[in-house]
Amino acid sequence: MTSIELINPADETVLRSVTHTTLAEVDDAILHAVSAQREWAALAPAERAAGLRRFAAAVDGAVEELAMLEVANSGHPISQARWEAGHVRDVLTYYSAAPERMLGSTIPVAGGIDVTFLEPVGVVGIIVPWNFPMTIAAWGFAPALAAGNAVVLKPAEWTPLTALRLAELALEAGLPEGLFQTLPGRGDVVGERFVSNENVRKIVFTGSTATGKKVMAGCAHQVKAVTLELGGKSANVVFADADLEKAAAAAPYSVFENAGQDCCARSRILVERSVLDRFLELLEPAVAGVKVGPVTDESTEMGPLVAKAHFDKVASYVPDDDQVAFRGSAPTGPGFWFPPTVLLPTSRTDRVVTDEIFGPVVSVLPFDDEADAIALANDSIYGLSGSIWTRDVGRAIRVSRAIESGNLSVNSNSSVRYSTPFGGFKQSGLGRELGPDAATAFTETKNVFISTD
Ligand code: NAD
Repeated sequence: MTSIELINPADETVLRSVTHTTLAEVDDAILHAVSAQREWAALAPAERAAGLRRFAAAVDGAVEELAMLEVANSGHPISQARWEAGHVRDVLTYYSAAPERMLGSTIPVAGGIDVTFLEPVGVVGIIVPWNFPMTIAAWGFAPALAAGNAVVLKPAEWTPLTALRLAELALEAGLPEGLFQTLPGRGDVVGERFVSNENVRKIVFTGSTATGKKVMAGCAHQVKAVTLELGGKSANVVFADADLEKAAAAAPYSVFENAGQDCCARSRILVERSVLDRFLELLEPAVAGVKVGPVTDESTEMGPLVAKAHFDKVASYVPDDDQVAFRGSAPTGPGFWFPPTVLLPTSRTDRVVTDEIFGPVVSVLPFDDEADAIALANDSIYGLSGSIWTRDVGRAIRVSRAIESGNLSVNSNSSVRYSTPFGGFKQSGLGRELGPDAATAFTETKNVFISTD
């Protein structure tokens, strides 16, 4: 396949086709990136900072355009897509402060002075999934560029449009040619070449755990640095002493946003058994209230699934009504629409409880006490995010420390802020993105001893 036809997930119309990058073109682009990186790293830190601020300004000027591309290509509701484009601008702005703050240390030693430098790794290959095409790309490219690297970016096959536009905006903002290139194409062609090309010195991979393992094994051949952001099956733990009204009203948005195609989705709601019935009574109207509909409507909260193949995968988890407690609504007719669906599984080992469905399907499970809640939350190969609802401060702290997960929130479901670290425990990933230290993750520490003799 040398090109791909993009389908609008909301109505199944053909958008356009995008030509895939060939292996030879990938190698050429990486060579181009090698020379652009040298030019970029040689600039004064303040000049690189200014370049990133201009890039942020260019994105700011294109928020509406980027948002409309995501609406058409990925089926994201317009208000969400605008937030995503604004988030890319904010991530660039945040990391534009980094070039002038790449601080090394001075270390007391005998016979001279010892200093460390944070050297850019060189060319960074960023491979992203289709669920949040522009925001996840920005989590990689903004700190990588800030640390003095060049970036080659491979968008997912289904959703390349915003990534292609972002690379144009970087050029329009005056970043050196070749410094930030988007190379659309297949994972087993372009993505694998990023891994095997020796001029790419670090890979940032976001995607499924299965592919992440392949990428990690490939990186091992060259001892190539790798950051992995993988799958999740996060728990939303509701204790009997919680503000149940608030927890139930918020729960649908912690799993149905982006139609559940969210690595941080709280797709297991664990409820203390004594309040299970009351919680379900409150959850049902909250789920019915999720606005699923036209993606260009400002008030729409949930759109369609991204593609027919993904719709079929999600649907295979709900073959009949056996475990369904209740559903929300979804449009009928063309488009890959799947209604918000709440399951009451009868077993803790059912595949709906253990697998990452990556669609608007949530399982509600009862637990008996704090120890049982922790055990159930941790009974997963994943450990990405999660929530704890309780009015007991001591319990909130105990349970937060006991859950094996990278991003937890108490009496809230928020996971992502560009100023705080993000990443997974166990098979949810390796390394961290975002937060104050992200640019450092794109450097090698060099130690230099200078003799005073
Ligand atoms: P995927 O693993 O199928 O693909 C991800 C990317 O890898 C795509 O660009 C794909 O083309 C590329 N790829 C495929 N095979 C490759 C190979 N052999 N070598 C290199 N690259 C290859 O994942 P997906 O279905 O696009 O995305 C959904 C998954 O992403 C879910 O599991 C989700 O949890 C995960 N995800 C994780 C995070 C996080 O931050 N932890 C964020 C978003 C999504």
